[in-house]
Amino acid sequence: MRNLEDPNVQWDVVIIGGGASGLGAALEAATRGYLTLLLEQDDFAKGTSSRSTKLVHGGVRYLAQGNVALVLEALKERGRLKLNAPHLVKDQPFVIPCYSYWCVPFYTIGLTLYDLMAGRLGIGRSVPLSKKGVSKALPAIKTRKLRGGVRYFDCQFDDARLAVNLAQTITEQGGVVINHMKVNGLIMEDGRVSGVEAGDRETGKQYRVAAGTVINATGVFVDDILKMEDPSVRDVVKPSQGIHLVMEREFLKGGEALMIPKTSDGRVLFAVPWHNRVVVGTTDVEKQEAELEPVAEEEEVEYILETAGRFMERAPRREDVLAVFTGLRPLAAPTGEGKKTKEISRGHKILVSKGGLVTLTGGKWTTYRKMGEDVVNRAAELAKLPARDSVTSALRIHGHVDEVDKSDPLYWYGSDRKQIDSLIDEDPELGGILSEELNIIEAQIVWAVRMEMARTVEDCLARRIRVIQLDARECIRVAPRVAEIVARELGYDQEWQKSQVKAITELASSHLLN
Ligand SMILES: Cc1cc2nc3c(=O)[nH]c(=O)nc-3n(C[C@H](O)[C@H](O)[C@H](O)COP(=O)(O)OP(=O)(O)OC[C@H]3O[C@@H](n4cnc5c(N)ncnc54)[C@H](O)[C@@H]3O)c2cc1C
Repeated sequence: MRNLEDPNVQWDVVIIGGGASGLGAALEAATRGYLTLLLEQDDFAKGTSSRSTKLVHGGVRYLAQGNVALVLEALKERGRLKLNAPHLVKDQPFVIPCYSYWCVPFYTIGLTLYDLMAGRLGIGRSVPLSKKGVSKALPAIKTRKLRGGVRYFDCQFDDARLAVNLAQTITEQGGVVINHMKVNGLIMEDGRVSGVEAGDRETGKQYRVAAGTVINATGVFVDDILKMEDPSVRDVVKPSQGIHLVMEREFLKGGEALMIPKTSDGRVLFAVPWHNRVVVGTTDVEKQEAELEPVAEEEEVEYILETAGRFMERAPRREDVLAVFTGLRPLAAPTGEGKKTKEISRGHKILVSKGGLVTLTGGKWTTYRKMGEDVVNRAAELAKLPARDSVTSALRIHGHVDEVDKSDPLYWYGSDRKQIDSLIDEDPELGGILSEELNIIEAQIVWAVRMEMARTVEDCLARRIRVIQLDARECIRVAPRVAEIVARELGYDQEWQKSQVKAITELASSHLLN
């Protein structure tokens, strides 16, 4: 914040947006030695980047669509991310159940090709399974008319935790990242974008920030920023909504994930174990408006319950849903008319406006690093920054550990894990249990505020620990105690606590089905 107050500081690169795209760009810029500032209007991963299916994947579906280049790139990035953040990314076996005889050889051949495309970064070979093999891997699957199946491998991760660890890595590399700081305008000089105007949402204080180049990485909001330069420009993003339903592990049982490659309307459906729950999704519904808190449509909920019910022995009902979370894909708007969102490429696009604003759209979490590399190459060239090579492909992300002990419920803190214990050594009360069901202790909240830039109860319960997505009722239950801890750490009063509890209760209620 002190850096922002100094009007003489000229940043090399200012990035708007603290999701996967912005964090990837900031990491790339900071590691190249450019003076880097990232501004996020709310919290890191507040937008789409906390609402993914939690897969680090090449995208079997994109292979079926013939998008070989995208799959090759994503498989390479999958392998790199697994090496750079092993505390957050793990191998995940998936099983495709087959109800016809042609299905087993068809998917075995396709997925073997997928494995081969990963080259030396591959993580496991796809194999055909007998009917018995499928029931063993997915004990909760319907076995009537089941012929066999195929097992293949991809990776699974914790999206918001990766965002937080990336923010920490950026600061360790000399960059500055600030959350709850909204960009309200662009500074223009002789028709060129030369900086941004931003407002601190906690204090109301306004800042003018000078920049060599500005990168717009605001996901579904990129058009709002583009219109700050030229209100008449055509929209470049088409939001596409996807929802997930979260249920108890018993709907899947075991550690393998279910993948339905073709649902009744030609989509893919996943049911993936995540923490001690199962995430089932997703949908693909075109939206007209960008929203920070999109809401699941009734039809989407029905579609997922109905489709999952056709494959699960115990069909999930509305009352089994512990939480529903909804995200908007920032898909690059196609130039041709009539294209459905599910057909739009998941590749990323970089656009440069007349005034030199560099906009990054599309893409996936999996390829966030490559997106950062590409956008910083372009921005550095435009701003005539000294050319420097990218070093992020083998850069360890904050929390990296050589050995991950998955039997520890808090293993995903990686190298920070021991420091949570140190907090409890200093103050044994912090060992108090917040949620027994979700394995959460009070020290995690203190850690989130002191070391992970959490500023609100929502920052803690939605993104530092994932309670709102794992169990929205549990989120409401623990909120008052979390508010007390955050208020004590940040010096806020009772009124603040009350308003925070009210806000998170409203938000968590919108993650529940009526
Ligand atoms: C349903 C669904 C499932 C998905 N599943 C997967 C998956 O399994 N694997 C995968 O690889 N990818 C997945 N994706 C894609 C991936 O999640 C997205 O591509 C990625 O998160 C987009 O990141 P982003 O940074 O572009 O956008 P966002 O995460 O939305 O970030 C943009 C940020 O900009 C901020 N912002 C906006 N305006 C301003 C402003 N004026 N000032 C400052 N900040 C501002 C917002 O608050 C927001 O935090 C999925 C997407 C969806 C929707």
